Amino acid sequence: MFKGILVTKTDGVYGASVQSVDDAVLGDGDVTVGVEWSTLNYKDGLAITGKSPVVRKFPLVPGIDFAGTVYSSQNPRWKVGDKVVLNGWGVGESYSGGLAQTARVKGEWLVALPAAFTTRQAMAIGTAGYTAMLCVMALEKHGVRPTDGEVLVTGASGGVGSVAVSLLSKLGYTVVASTGRLEEAPYLQSLGASSVIDRNELSGPGKPLAKERWAAVVDSVGSHTLANACAATRYGGAVAACGLAQGMDFPASVAPFILRGITLYGIDSVMAPLAKREEAWARLARDLDVAKLEALTTEISLEQAIGVAAELLQGKVRGRVVVKP
Ligand code: NDP
Repeated sequence: MFKGILVTKTDGVYGASVQSVDDAVLGDGDVTVGVEWSTLNYKDGLAITGKSPVVRKFPLVPGIDFAGTVYSSQNPRWKVGDKVVLNGWGVGESYSGGLAQTARVKGEWLVALPAAFTTRQAMAIGTAGYTAMLCVMALEKHGVRPTDGEVLVTGASGGVGSVAVSLLSKLGYTVVASTGRLEEAPYLQSLGASSVIDRNELSGPGKPLAKERWAAVVDSVGSHTLANACAATRYGGAVAACGLAQGMDFPASVAPFILRGITLYGIDSVMAPLAKREEAWARLARDLDVAKLEALTTEISLEQAIGVAAELLQGKVRGRVVVKP
């Protein structure tokens, strides 16, 4: 038995609470990990509150990511004592996840903890930060350079947004942060944003084409915001779309694609192949300022995670939240 959050559905009633969890809930992976740190991502908020049907098996420990030390391993890639990180692969959705003291997963899903990070720092980055890095890598691969002009980051005060602002500014880009919380402007500027705009400028229905402004975009918001971001992306520019905090719809036109040759990259962290994950974690180790990472991180307990999950979905949580199980 170990302590963890357990999501249950009994007679159609959805619930999440901190409990003493039976080992049987962990399933049949070949590596057992002592979880030192986990986090709250947007999807964890959905899993804990039941607001969206992301949990596919009950009972289940939520938590799409964790970092910790291998307790036991039947997998040749890992031995007892190895420090590891997990992001995605359906963990916290179809398989029990990181919001507990123990996790058991397939060895091929794990990435070695980069030497540059403690397990706490790895989870301060978490899936949100690793996804921000995947977005930046897509824009770089497209050929976007710091000299090309302003890069827009939407949902900037959130987890993906905060890490994207930090990364892009460290890499020399001129970052414009879009937020619904203008009171967080000093925070966003401390992470490296050159300027901050009100997300209302982007969140309503817009024109198929707007004045060209963005060399590139990291969007964690979707819906009209993504459509307006595409409409104002400069000729040949690129947009990396990873989220749906405003909505899953994409009420756009083809105009920016066929008249300005812009490219829209879809970013998925969950099933990303191992080589890409390892590249992203190596890049985070190189390009993320750990002092800024600390500034954007809040620490909570498993018990607090239940309430904070609801706040996260309401867009009230700033930056990243680490959970100590
Ligand atoms: P957070 O809740 O930390 O951040 C989301 C931010 O979006 C909020 O802080 C807020 O920023 C903004 N926002 C919230 N509601 C609205 C709204 N109605 N309209 C416009 N903006 C809004 O979540 P994460 O950063 O962890 O995740 C962001 C998104 O990325 C989520 O949709 C998540 O599911 C997705 N995601 C996708 C991944 C993938 O693999 N593709 C991996 C990780 C996350 P502000 O207050 O600054 O406006």
